[in-house]
This record gives sequence, structure tokens and C-alpha cells, in this order.
Amino acid sequence: MSLLLDRLEGVRATGHSRWVARCPAHDDSRPSLAITKKADGAVLLHCFAGCEVGDLVGALGLDLSDLFPARQPGVHGVKPVKRRFSAEQVLHAVAFELIEVTLIVGAIARRGSVTRTERERLQQSVSRFMAAEGRTHE
Ligand SMILES: [Zn+2]
Repeated sequence: MSLLLDRLEGVRATGHSRWVARCPAHDDSRPSLAITKKADGAVLLHCFAGCEVGDLVGALGLDLSDLFPARQPGVHGVKPVKRRFSAEQVLHAVAFELIEVTLIVGAIARRGSVTRTERERLQQSVSRFMAAEGRTHE
């Protein structure tokens, strides 16, 4: 996370795991870039001027995979606790996931190739979509 924040200018915390900064991808006089760190460690970047996330990470000298947490070895064997969520919560999570999938696909389309991290992240998304099914209570 500090890797990312250290490379940005005009960083200001706006809340828990939320920051704004000047966008590195366009001539930004005010902080147009919103940075959100999610509970799973993934980082969401959004430029309100409309810069694409691929351009944002490129301008910072980072890769899209730097926005996602490194896989922890040994975690795979741990059985996740099955919590129940409201339909609204699940929908919100799915919508977030869909945004990330869209961003990854956009980066893949621009580059014309898929990194291993992106492939794994998309597979993770499929798992999350499947896990979301049946997680709601009426
Ligand atoms: Zn921008």
C-alpha cells in the first residue's frame, strides 16, 4: 500500500483505508484520484476525470497485479467460515467484483496478453461469484 501512496502526490486520507491524491495519468490540479483499500488487501483506483486504471498504474510504474494482494501460501487449506449476508450486501460485493473484472479485461485488451496474476484474479472472481450464490438469507 505504501508502495502506491509513496508514488502519488498530494495524498490525503479521507477515511479508513481511503485516500485522495492528484491523478498521475492526467494534468491534475486538484485531487481527482480516489484510492480505496479493501478488506482483502486489494486496492481500487478511480480517477474522477475518467483515466483508466491501466493508465494510472502505468503512470506510477506499477502493474495491475500490484493492486491485488499477494497470495498467502498455506491459506488455501483453510476452510472459509460461511457467513450469511443480506441480498443487498451480496449484490454490492458482486458489483465491486464486476468492476474489477471489467478493469482487468480492459487492461488485457489494451495489452493484448494476459498475465498469470490476471488469470488467477479472474479465476478468483469466478469462485467469488459462485460463492456469492447461496450466501443470502431471505
Ligand atoms: Zn486522471
